[in-house]
Amino acid sequence: NQEQLPISFFDEEMEAGLVREEEIKKELVQITDHINPERLSLHYQPILNIKDHTIVGFEALARLDSIYLGKVSPVEFIAVAEKSKLIIPIGERIIDMALRFIKRLYHQGFTTYWVSINISPIQLLKEDFCAYLLNAMSLYQVSPESIHIEITETVFSSDYDDINRTLGVLKAHGIHISIDDFGTGYSSLSRERELNINCLKIDKSFIDKLTEKEENSAITGDIIVMAHRLGHTVIAEGVENEKQLNYLKSHQCDLVQGYYFYKPIEEDKIFDVLL
Ligand code: C2E
Ligand code: MG
Ligand code: MG
Ligand code: MG
Repeated sequence: NQEQLPISFFDEEMEAGLVREEEIKKELVQITDHINPERLSLHYQPILNIKDHTIVGFEALARLDSIYLGKVSPVEFIAVAEKSKLIIPIGERIIDMALRFIKRLYHQGFTTYWVSINISPIQLLKEDFCAYLLNAMSLYQVSPESIHIEITETVFSSDYDDINRTLGVLKAHGIHISIDDFGTGYSSLSRERELNINCLKIDKSFIDKLTEKEENSAITGDIIVMAHRLGHTVIAEGVENEKQLNYLKSHQCDLVQGYYFYKPIEEDKIFDVLL
């Protein structure tokens, strides 16, 4: 019976999706139980000054190399981790790895670069998040100027006051806060004014528009102007070509990140780029 086909196909897809999710979950548990910790790693993508193209920092991007599934995108495994609360121990591991990398930079004589760590809203809302981070910083002897925290603006769709209070504590300790994927989500720029943040990362979708019709670019320029008016630094993410870069330069964007300059790089290879 042909009419039943789509339904059984849907079931099979759902089934396969659930099996995959269970597999990822199992692997994340093994990582947090120190059974296969090396399966989770961080790659680092340089962030550059738009004026002279010097590297000023790096974004830490999580990578999962699964035994059974191969490479799994962070979009997928972070979502699984968030659903299962594994994001807490996984997120702590990510913080530890990033701080260890900063310490490694120090030891090589690189003391001015900062590293941006993506933090899930669930992590940020946990009452001991600041304590964990501050304790790790003293453990690894990493100074606050070396750390940026990236949070997506969707985090403000709920728990606005709790989140902003936590950001205030971090900021008071000298840790920079960036709003990631800016423009795609919830917040309005008027609200940004009261936020304890330092930096806006304009989402790649707005950078993509810069290669389209001219009238589609205007919004990106407007975001930069308004962010500056609020005193925030502006990072453009996902810059892939010269046309985008030229627009961003002529509109006074501060920092850039994207394949046009560098893709995310595995930790050991970062030193080849810097030396
Ligand atoms: P994000 O934080 O917005 O990171 C930027 C994403 O854009 C990264 O994808 C990066 O590799 C990619 N990208 C950078 N430049 C370009 C470009 O020029 N062209 C294109 N096409 N892509 C570019 P990635 O590494 O796959 O990460 C995807 C998302 O997964 C991140 O988006 C972030 O939301 C999440 N994620 C990654 N690592 C972590 C982590 O350690 N913790 C948490 N909570 N989330 C993470
Ligand atoms: Mg990010
Ligand atoms: Mg982003
Ligand atoms: Mg993004």
